[in-house]
Amino acid sequence: MNIGGPRQQQEPRVGITPAIARRYIADGHRVIVESGAGGGAGFSDAAYRNAGCELVASAWGADAVVTVRPPPTEVRSRLSPGASLLGLLKPLDEPDHMRELARTGVTALAFETLPRTTRAQGMDVLSSQATLAGYGMALEAASRLKRIFPMMVTAAGTLRPATVVVLGCGVAGLQAIATCRRLGAVVKAYDVRAAAAEQVRSLGASFIEVDVAPQDASASGGYARQLDGDEEDRLLTLLEKHLAGADAVITAAAIPGQPAPRLVTTEAVARMPPGSVIVDGAAERGGNCALTVPDQIVEFEGVTIVGPTGLEARPASDASMMYARNAYELLTYIADLSPDIDDEIRTGVTITRGGEVVHPAVLALLGETP
Ligand code: NAD
Repeated sequence: MNIGGPRQQQEPRVGITPAIARRYIADGHRVIVESGAGGGAGFSDAAYRNAGCELVASAWGADAVVTVRPPPTEVRSRLSPGASLLGLLKPLDEPDHMRELARTGVTALAFETLPRTTRAQGMDVLSSQATLAGYGMALEAASRLKRIFPMMVTAAGTLRPATVVVLGCGVAGLQAIATCRRLGAVVKAYDVRAAAAEQVRSLGASFIEVDVAPQDASASGGYARQLDGDEEDRLLTLLEKHLAGADAVITAAAIPGQPAPRLVTTEAVARMPPGSVIVDGAAERGGNCALTVPDQIVEFEGVTIVGPTGLEARPASDASMMYARNAYELLTYIADLSPDIDDEIRTGVTITRGGEVVHPAVLALLGETP
């Protein structure tokens, strides 16, 4: 099989790294990579050549294409009918594009719809990239705060540690907690899922107890459900006093397919100490904080609110290494499966096949029945 690594537009990450290319080649495949594809992530053309790849002008025509972003419209005609296209294809955000992709005849495989199961962990791009986003949020908070995170006892006086509140303790939030703890901050955290409390405590943070029933999310793929109006009002009131005592707030709360839950109101920001910082990791989905503007710095009564997007791509080399490894695991898993087996991982990721959109969730968004 020919495996292709195209150069991405406005994206430093790449879907195949030299180390992963070696693995594909050792498995008997041929790897073609577009010249300059790894440049944004620190992988030179020479490194790909040394790994045994062929450098080409276009890799979109390969039998299996590993992309990070959906293919731009102008390259769709280069995709080979029957080929596999694997990437973060935005099937649930841009379902109309999936219909156009289906017309090319490719089998589109999207990481966004991979089941979040233990078996699929090694293929889980959402998790690997969310880990890096969480790390980035902690660094963003630490670098913008007018104080330092750790306690310091010096001849010039004792500095108390910063208090960080983390709201939303999925993969990104937990990594933000771990990073803030390593930097010496005191961390308090809250998540609506019952399972999160123990995970938060195991990282050395305290769990904020509120009078809202914790959710058992095991039946919904681990995902939280939206709170009803009464629960939300109570939660916002209870969180306000914790936010008022925070030097930094990091938010990473999300509900799939919904706007981000609102957890920090304008009134809560007004009660925070001047010089404090809010890093909103849900900026792209409308923000967990009422005042967030994606990729802008908002100052409100002495509080700095930032909603940086694309934090996971900043450490582009490590992000690509994790992404490429996840893609390798998924592609090789699917390649080894017999076509007539009903497999939840393959069914989960397959968005288009044989010229049609086949994924039930995407079909539902398009108003069609499976
Ligand atoms: P996500 O990005 O969808 O959401 C982030 C967090 O926001 C979640 O923990 C969610 O509970 C929380 N949240 C939603 N509404 C909230 C509210 N009103 N207040 C506070 N918090 C709120 O989550 P994710 O990081 O993609 O993880 C989703 C789930 O998948 C988790 O249960 C996670 O443990 C699970 N998971 C399992 C595996 C595995 O078993 N292989 C791998 C990765 C993730």
